[in-house]
Amino acid sequence: MINRRKFIENLSAAGALSLIPGTLKAQPIFNEFAPEKSLPVIISTWIHGIDANAKAIEVLTCGGSVVDAVEQGVMIPEADPENRSVGLGGLPDRDGYVTLDACIMGPDGNAGSVCFLENIVHPISVARLVMEKTPHVMLSGEGALQFALENGFVEQDLLTPAAEKAWKEWLKESKYNPEANWENKPNEFHDTIGLLAVDQNGDIAGACTTSGLGYKMRGRVGDSPIIGAGLYVDNEVGGATATGMGELVIKVVGSFLVVELMRNGRSPQQACEETVTRIVNKVPENKIRQVGFIAVNKKGETGAFCLQPGFNFALYQENKNAMHDSKSYY
Ligand code: ASP
Repeated sequence: MINRRKFIENLSAAGALSLIPGTLKAQPIFNEFAPEKSLPVIISTWIHGIDANAKAIEVLTCGGSVVDAVEQGVMIPEADPENRSVGLGGLPDRDGYVTLDACIMGPDGNAGSVCFLENIVHPISVARLVMEKTPHVMLSGEGALQFALENGFVEQDLLTPAAEKAWKEWLKESKYNPEANWENKPNEFHDTIGLLAVDQNGDIAGACTTSGLGYKMRGRVGDSPIIGAGLYVDNEVGGATATGMGELVIKVVGSFLVVELMRNGRSPQQACEETVTRIVNKVPENKIRQVGFIAVNKKGETGAFCLQPGFNFALYQENKNAMHDSKSYY
């Protein structure tokens, strides 16, 4: 059994945690925050992140809060009928229903989420209301819809003719086998949008929204609305968000793990790499599925890593908003 002295030596050797003398309470390493000129920073998943980042920076520039920025940023792909994996126009489940998952976290540690929500174009805004107006974190299905309608949201059929056509085509074979990066084929599919922002003051927020995997089983909920899996923010440390096959992300509580690794001294890049490696070591389907993480820390440093080549992300920093290819494990 490890004794207390050995335990403290191990922690110091790892350089991972500092300890309050006389206690075993671990302290975050980023508690000394000095703003750097590279703020604000906005990072988001896939090509639809470019327009989302642009909106988020516009909101910050106009004096909006960092929570306003992440919410309004991801509302852009949510409202885009051409986008097959977020909000309006998203691919339905195997029974033809478009069901949406979303969550949001702010710098105060507050969190809100909706899952299995139908007929609402902006699930991220319902998630924000759950965060701000209820004592709960997550509402699902009928209850989430009822809450949205009670708060002035309007129901709309989200199944566009193009998505319906794709579903009917899929029904001919009904073969469920999500390919890696299927979401990023030009003009066809894009995946979940996860967006993280660090504002000028170093305050961090994140938002994540998706219609989930196309042709999923009815009732299936992925990682995206699960705080800690699809998204996690800790304002003392940083934030992380995930995309890809949600089942793999949930099994390692991926975004929380990325943030905890950063808390323990890893850079955002190292934390994303270590989390993907955890999936490789723990989840057998890793060889044939895609998962990607992006992360940012309080200093505005960013990271991204994925299982298979093909994941890309949009980064706004120092007045540039550009796409970058993520490095991959395979
Ligand atoms: N992560 C999402 C889910 O599993 C979908 C995706 O990002 O492809 O629902």
